Amino acid sequence: MDERYPSRGPRSFQDGPREFHKAVCSDCSKECEVPFKPTEGRPVYCRDCLPKHRKPRY
Ligand SMILES: [Zn+2]
Repeated sequence: MDERYPSRGPRSFQDGPREFHKAVCSDCSKECEVPFKPTEGRPVYCRDCLPKHRKPRY
């Protein structure tokens, strides 16, 4: 058997398992999980507050 790909297949490279980090929302102080490592000194927002703080794209 020639296993060139992980058991999940080549697609797992794109939407593989995300690592979530626990953080506290800077807006509502609710505990949330973010798919990136929270940086110290930078605000983290939960899914509810994130749209409010996103920079508008034109
Ligand atoms: Zn929030």
